[in-house]
Amino acid sequence: MSKISFTSIMPDLKDYVRNNIKGHSLEISNKPLDLEKIKKDTEILGVFVDSKIDKAVFDALPKLKMIATFSTGFDYIDLKEAKKRKIPVCNVPTYGENTVAQHAMTLLLALSRKLFQSVKIVKEGVYNYHGLCGFDLKGKTIGIIGTGHIGIHLIDMLAGFEVNTIAYDAFPNPELEKTHKFKYVNLNKLYSDSDIISLHVPLFPTTYHMINKNSVKKMKDGVYIINTARGGLADPEALVWGLENGKIAGIGTDVLEEETYFQNPQKILNLKDEKELRRTLMENILIDHPNTIVTPHNAFNSVEALKRITDTSLENIKAFISGKVQNDVTKK
Ligand code: NAD
Repeated sequence: MSKISFTSIMPDLKDYVRNNIKGHSLEISNKPLDLEKIKKDTEILGVFVDSKIDKAVFDALPKLKMIATFSTGFDYIDLKEAKKRKIPVCNVPTYGENTVAQHAMTLLLALSRKLFQSVKIVKEGVYNYHGLCGFDLKGKTIGIIGTGHIGIHLIDMLAGFEVNTIAYDAFPNPELEKTHKFKYVNLNKLYSDSDIISLHVPLFPTTYHMINKNSVKKMKDGVYIINTARGGLADPEALVWGLENGKIAGIGTDVLEEETYFQNPQKILNLKDEKELRRTLMENILIDHPNTIVTPHNAFNSVEALKRITDTSLENIKAFISGKVQNDVTKK
C-alpha cells in the first residue's frame, strides 16, 4: 500500500481520483502544496504547476519516491534535486494541444475585436461602438514561436482565417511545412514580419526572457503578443515598456512569471528579492493595462482536457507502483 498525496485536485475530480486508485492511502487536497499540511510520510506526490517543488519540499518529504505532475510543463519542479535523489518526475506529455491552442485563439480573437472592453461597457450600460474598432485577421502575418503540439494546432486553426503564418523553432521539422500551412523563418525575420506573435516553447534557461527589450525593438510597430506557454518567456519590464511606447499594441497572456504572488497575494509581504518584486509590480501593471487581457493560467482548463490529464497522471502513478516508470522527465 502506497501513501499518496494529491494537491490542487479540482473538487469535481476528487471522487474520480479516489475511484481510480484503490487500495492505497490517499490524501486529496484542492489547494497547492502546503508544507505545513502535507503528510510527511508521503511516498507519491501528485502536484500541479501552482506549487513550487524545491529543495525544501524534497527535504520535508524524506520518504518521497515519485512525483506525478498533472501537467506537461515541469519547470516548477527542481529536476536536479529530483535526479540527485533518484525520484522520477512523470508528466503528461500530451493532453490538450487543441485545448491550449483554442485558448491562444480566444485571446487573439478577443484582442482583435476589443471583446473585453465591449462586454465591459455594455454591462456598464453604454450600448455603442465608439472606441471599439477592431482589426481583421485576414491578410495579417502571424508568427508562431515553437511548432510543437500546441503551436501546430494553432497553425491549423489559423488556416481558416486566411492569414499568412510563419514560424520559428530551435529544432524545425521540415516535414511539418508540407502538411500544415506555414513557412519556417529565422527568429529575427519572425520578429520583423509578424503582426501577431504567439509563444509555444517550453521555459528553459535558453528561452527565459526570450522576449526582452532587444527582441521587442525588432518587432513591427503595433505588434500583438500572445503567451499561453510560460510567463518567464517574456520579461514583463520589456512588455510594459513596449505597451507604453506604442511598439506593442496589445498583449493576451494566460501566464505570468510571478503568478504565484497573484495566486497568494499575502506572500508579497515576504518578498525580499528585489528583482522578483519588480517583476511582480510590472506584471501588476500588465494586468491593469487597458490593452491587455490576462487570464489566470487557465488555458488547460476544459472538461475534456482535465479528464485526459487526470487519466494519464493516474496511469503514471499506477505504472510506478507496478514497477514500470513511464513519462519520466528526469530521464530526458
Ligand atoms: P512541445 O514540446 O510539443 O513543443 C515545444 C516546441 O518548442 C518544440 O517544437 C521544440 O522544438 C521547441 N523549442 C524548444 N526549445 C526552443 C527554443 N529555444 N526556441 C524555439 N523553439 C524551441 O510543447 P507543447 O505541448 O506545444 O507546449 C508548449 C508549452 O506550452 C509547454 O512547454 C508549456 O510550458 C505550455 N503549456 C501551457 C499551458 C497552459 O495552461 N497555459 C498548458 C499546456 C502547456
